Amino acid sequence: MNPEIIYVDENSEIPLFGVDFIGIIDRGTNVIELKPLTLCNLKCKYCFVSAGDYKTNFLIDPDYLITNLRNIVEVKGHYKIEIHFAPYGEILLYPNLFDLIKIIWNIKGIETISLQTNGLLLDEEKIRKLEEVKVTRINISLNSLNKEKASFLTNKKDYDIENLIKNISLLLDSNIDVLIAPVWFPGENDNDIEEIIRFIIDLRKAGYSDKKIQIGIQKYLIYKTGRKLKKIRPKSWGYFYHQLSILEKIYNIKLKLGPLDFGIHKRNTAASLNIRKNDSIRLKVISKGRWKNEFIGKINENFGIKLLVNKSIIAPEKLIGKEIVARIIKANYKDNILTAFFSI
Ligand code: SF4
Repeated sequence: MNPEIIYVDENSEIPLFGVDFIGIIDRGTNVIELKPLTLCNLKCKYCFVSAGDYKTNFLIDPDYLITNLRNIVEVKGHYKIEIHFAPYGEILLYPNLFDLIKIIWNIKGIETISLQTNGLLLDEEKIRKLEEVKVTRINISLNSLNKEKASFLTNKKDYDIENLIKNISLLLDSNIDVLIAPVWFPGENDNDIEEIIRFIIDLRKAGYSDKKIQIGIQKYLIYKTGRKLKKIRPKSWGYFYHQLSILEKIYNIKLKLGPLDFGIHKRNTAASLNIRKNDSIRLKVISKGRWKNEFIGKINENFGIKLLVNKSIIAPEKLIGKEIVARIIKANYKDNILTAFFSI
């Protein structure tokens, strides 16, 4: 059964701030994160947001996104803004991507447009178009150069590693910078991580600069609603950084990247609600969410909220359109992301 797709536009009344899985994420810096869709071409075994498997998917109308984006840039200031596409899904599945990027460049103060992708949908034509619309950097999640291992981790039998490497080469010879972003699964791809480091070193020896080809090793994180790799137990941040220090010494390469390496700095937050965990909040249930017990609530014109409902509620879809009082179970001030729970 094909999942349903909900188109999020002005008429949908779904606000673009406040919900973690779609819209605009404002973490109080000069980087504005865009999540214009939830579709994914993969169902990775480790996906912390369980993408590729949603009962309902979301696609945001580009005009609606741009209107909201203009407003937030106005608040942050028209200088040194980075727009980073990081959907809970695959950005290359967004139908209006190239046009959207073109329009974003018209907003004064945008200096960088970057995107995150699993890279499998890249081809020569897409790379040409991405270069044409002046994408600054592409972050590719690649956890192993070994076909079988990559295939296992991403749950994709015909994972075409050769093609991906060929496309990385094309990107390197374009005006787009590349960041390889492997997730390190302790005990599962330790050697693969070292192989990727050597791959980067070889590219730099071949003449590509440290900016042209970067590496950003990511820590494996486990979330309650995400998929988990069996038998892999995530390590602490301390252990992760210690291992990176060891690898930095062995390979003489910088692996611990921080906000400064990407020019990230503090900026005004466009809007913030003074809401705390356990507060009660009145909201209108505006749409279903990705799963049966997930909805989107509307707090005001700008702010939405992820709403989880008690699984025992019969016909929860009847809540849509109703005003309810729910309890805040998560209020992430830094990212302005909210989650509420409703039970009868
Ligand atoms: S990890 Fe990325 S590519 Fe894999 S299923 Fe999740 S969103 Fe899709």
